[in-house]
Amino acid sequence: MTHYEAIVIGAGVAGIYQIKRLADLGIEATVLEAGGDLGGTWYWNRYPGARFDSESYTYGYSFSRDLLDEWHWKEHFSGQPENLRYLNHVAAKFGLRKYMQFNCRVDAAHYDEAQNLWRVRVGDGRELTCRFLILTLGLLSMPTLPRVEGIESFKGRSFHTFHWPQEPVDMTGKRVAVIGTGATGIQVIGEIADKVGDLTVFQRRPNWSAPLNNAPISEAEMADIRRRYDEIFAACARSPGGFVHEPDRRGFYEVSREERLALWDKLYDEPGFGIWLANFREIFMDEKANAEISEYIADRIRRRVKDPKIAEKLIPRDHGFGVQRVPMETRYFEAYNQPNVHLVDISETPLVRITETGLRTTERDYEFDIIVYATGFDAITGAFDKIDIRGVGGEALADKWRTTISTYLGMMVHGFPNMLMPAGPQSGSASTNYPRGIETGVNWCTDFLEHVWAKGYTRFEATEAAEKRWTDHVTGMYAMMLMRKAKSWFTGYNSNVPGHEQGTIRYLVYNGGAPKYVGIINAAAANGYTDVVLGTGGASSQALPDREPLARSSS
Ligand SMILES: Cc1cc2nc3c(=O)[nH]c(=O)nc-3n(C[C@H](O)[C@H](O)[C@H](O)COP(=O)(O)OP(=O)(O)OC[C@H]3O[C@@H](n4cnc5c(N)ncnc54)[C@H](O)[C@@H]3O)c2cc1C
Repeated sequence: MTHYEAIVIGAGVAGIYQIKRLADLGIEATVLEAGGDLGGTWYWNRYPGARFDSESYTYGYSFSRDLLDEWHWKEHFSGQPENLRYLNHVAAKFGLRKYMQFNCRVDAAHYDEAQNLWRVRVGDGRELTCRFLILTLGLLSMPTLPRVEGIESFKGRSFHTFHWPQEPVDMTGKRVAVIGTGATGIQVIGEIADKVGDLTVFQRRPNWSAPLNNAPISEAEMADIRRRYDEIFAACARSPGGFVHEPDRRGFYEVSREERLALWDKLYDEPGFGIWLANFREIFMDEKANAEISEYIADRIRRRVKDPKIAEKLIPRDHGFGVQRVPMETRYFEAYNQPNVHLVDISETPLVRITETGLRTTERDYEFDIIVYATGFDAITGAFDKIDIRGVGGEALADKWRTTISTYLGMMVHGFPNMLMPAGPQSGSASTNYPRGIETGVNWCTDFLEHVWAKGYTRFEATEAAEKRWTDHVTGMYAMMLMRKAKSWFTGYNSNVPGHEQGTIRYLVYNGGAPKYVGIINAAAANGYTDVVLGTGGASSQALPDREPLARSSS
């Protein structure tokens, strides 16, 4: 049996940085990754149009000046191939591959109380053990297909966007269906509309969406970005979302409607999330303010879509603009002006089944060569639920989190000792520019482990009271936000996942903003981690290399 001091599960942005920190400390650790290689989100999602909605230079890691100085982002919002190249570059530069094991899906992780260690079972039948289990599973890494019969019967090609083939898919002249108009559907539709023969979009509920306004980054611009990196990351640290976009601090009602319109005209044509995050803060909390910005965005859609009936179908009615993460688009609305693009409203004529040749709605049969499932993810907790994680007394994490979830700072769970989630549910990542939250979380968890090692502890567990306090705080934050009313992954809604249908709100993300989150977790550390019970149990832990390394069996 192979034993490690720490096992990290998942080799995405979070797992890569986590293993870097552990390797720097000389900790015996490995990363287990289900995929065939590293990269997480950017390894899996190879569909046409997959790209950042974060400014590329705010997405990259900030921990190495060298890395910042040598990497040239080619576009303001970089695409999947470049993003994957970047993560490979990081792994090569810091020699991280040797710590990673690919094609290793973890099926189970059980805490062994007697030995005070985690027993981790991998899909290939191996069992590994570790003192500390670090879950960097991704919050959007468990794809979901629609709950419709016949998916296996289709004789053409079909794939979920997450499982897009690694080799290019020739769509020239093909009849293509895209099911779903969330963030992924919006990206893929805009990209392929003029490359396929015929495209039919099956939409159940439209999403608000605004232009990405992407552009290349020249050598001169990149040189300027490099000079400004400190300033850029400082802006990210100040802003609630961890982006360069900071809210307009003027009161919505303190300025005239003309001034509001002028701001929106400017933001709509600017790159990135400005129209969402550099807006007035009231749009997130005040129904009237939200209705006004929603009507503004609806008008912009009407101006871009020629057929008024189609335009109205593309305008959401069940939620306001910005109450869930806003998908950014490129040529999305214009796609519907093309004669080869058709919109089917499956809220009116629901999907009945997938057939051998296409799909059937309550109205008619459609024939396709390719079906694309852009049906999103069992978000936030999906990858956690998929692993049989058991803590003290054999309690299953999936059971503990069945109706709603509870964590301590989004990074620990009471009853699950020696387990950390640097970018977990209720942490600072999900509602922000992820890598900024990820770096914060990984740094906090690693500093915490250093404390544990330095003091000679071998066991830690967040108290029940501290977990309740944090979860109440997370829940309280929802009360202020209109997003609590939206059917989205912020509220744990997914009609394709049994038990996560409407009516079961789950408080999955932290909405207090990045600066507040960082303040709270830093205070917890400065107070000496008093919310965490530290102790000993099992064999002693690995000492840090500068204090007599402890040999571990690896047989
Ligand atoms: C298409 C798309 C675009 C996005 N764009 C942005 C953006 O512009 N800005 C932004 O901030 N965020 C964006 N995100 C969110 C994105 O997920 C994060 O930015 C970031 O990549 C998360 O990194 P991670 O390491 O936490 O998770 P992931 O990148 O999801 O990596 C998790 C890894 O864990 C592995 N894993 C899961 N379960 C197991 C298991 N049981 N055993 C072994 N391995 C397992 C997965 O295979 C995966 O490789 C986007 C997401 C998607 C899907």
